[in-house]
Amino acid sequence: GADPVVKVAQPHDRLLGGLLSPDFNDTSCLSRYRASLYRRRSLHVLSSHLVSALRRYESLHRLCGPGTSAYERAVARLRSPSSSNTTSDAPSECRYLVWTPHAGLGNRMLSITSAFLYALLTGRVLLFHRSGDDMKDLFCEPFPGATWVLPEDFPIRGMERFGIRTRESLGNALGRGEGGRDPPPPWMYVHLRHDYTRPGASDRLFFCDDGQDALRRVGWVVLLSDNYFVPGLFLIPRYERELSRMFPRRDAVFHHLGRYLFHPSNTVWGMVMRYHGSYLAKAEERVGVQVRTFSWAPISTDELYGQIVSCAQGENILPRVRESSSGSDNATAIPGSRRQQQQRPARRKAVLVVSLHGEYYERIRDMYYEHGAVGGDAVSVFQPTHLGGQRSEERMHNQKALAEMMLLSFSDVALTSAASTFGYVSHGLAGLRPWVLMVPVRKKAPNPPCRLAATVEPCFHTPPHYDCQARTKGDNGKTVRHVRHCEDLKDGVQLV
Ligand code: GDP
Repeated sequence: GADPVVKVAQPHDRLLGGLLSPDFNDTSCLSRYRASLYRRRSLHVLSSHLVSALRRYESLHRLCGPGTSAYERAVARLRSPSSSNTTSDAPSECRYLVWTPHAGLGNRMLSITSAFLYALLTGRVLLFHRSGDDMKDLFCEPFPGATWVLPEDFPIRGMERFGIRTRESLGNALGRGEGGRDPPPPWMYVHLRHDYTRPGASDRLFFCDDGQDALRRVGWVVLLSDNYFVPGLFLIPRYERELSRMFPRRDAVFHHLGRYLFHPSNTVWGMVMRYHGSYLAKAEERVGVQVRTFSWAPISTDELYGQIVSCAQGENILPRVRESSSGSDNATAIPGSRRQQQQRPARRKAVLVVSLHGEYYERIRDMYYEHGAVGGDAVSVFQPTHLGGQRSEERMHNQKALAEMMLLSFSDVALTSAASTFGYVSHGLAGLRPWVLMVPVRKKAPNPPCRLAATVEPCFHTPPHYDCQARTKGDNGKTVRHVRHCEDLKDGVQLV
């Protein structure tokens, strides 16, 4: 179709056109320079302006990151702000953005990416608060010669429990009329979890000049978010020019920043390589199917299975099957059979089903076991895990989730559930517009069952929907030209 990705035999461009820094040791993180070998080549244009912004950021991180004297000074200012008011204003001092985890891995990866773009725009250094063990041995360090992991003795405690009522939040500070405080407070909290738009909570002013003015001179900003708030940054006038230079096309922000930031650890990469090598490598075509169900969009297993099959067969993603399960007709479906050899060789199609549930995989596998595929393709169906439920506070669980996102990102064609951040990450890394199974309407699959996504960009599920000028509710799908309502979740907005 119209996807801007093609398979071209070319020497491997290990740095992805300058997106990745060459300054890493290859063996400490095998996936960094290798993941792209397994993906289709990206044709999403990378701007030289973004490349220089990344290199500049890397120098800043080396200068300010944990372990440096600048970091020690900044933490000392946080511990005793009164003794050093005057220095907190010095332009040469480092300023920080501390990201703290919330929700599932897909949500986390999208919110870190958004935080990173905000850090790029504001000259802050991004630090990753791991909060426990569940994100250990998951990702490699993204920045050369430095760590992004927040040291455990960081003086602000309990960040993972911050919320709307946290006194230091941007919304509460603005509510008290302290937006222009001089000197600024040593730290502020920005609450962008999905409940931030509730009446009475003012953190949505983050997306307005008032909010940005209040944060500008604050040394430490702590952020908690489960949102892909990148489209929201495109709503803020002061960042417009820089964003348009970094992303002249605007439709592949996560694709670039995600491939820059997320490199699975050697443990996770081992799982990915073993699975790929055992089940997927030999196929001529890889079809990724991600099935995610949400309690807010109930649908029965039968109905959802029917939706998957009608989308996959209707859009020629998977072959239809012959009605009868016996008879000579079926010989065409057996690779290597004499009749097959006389016609054309069977194409090997590997279908990777990724889901918390096992039923969809079982039914698709059985369909091609019991019936031959029209056209004679050999269809093999695999599912790495079916973990039953979400347990994002367990390390092994997150490692498996990341391994599956990576495997999905190697697909040639993708079919995915609407509104899943797990899916957004997988297809965003691939740079592939997936076929999206639209959300059920009154427990029934809609018609058509799926649509080709308009963009590879994730959807910002909970935009502020606020008009900064009028200081009232507004429709952020209509505020600026390149931000539109999402197709898979009407209230959300995305870059187009
Ligand atoms: P979302 O809820 O679909 O937006 O995605 P998230 O990644 O934020 O949260 C879902 C979490 O449930 C994932 O991070 C995984 O921990 C788990 N999960 C959901 N679907 C799958 C799957 O297909 N495979 C695996 N291994 N885990 C999954």
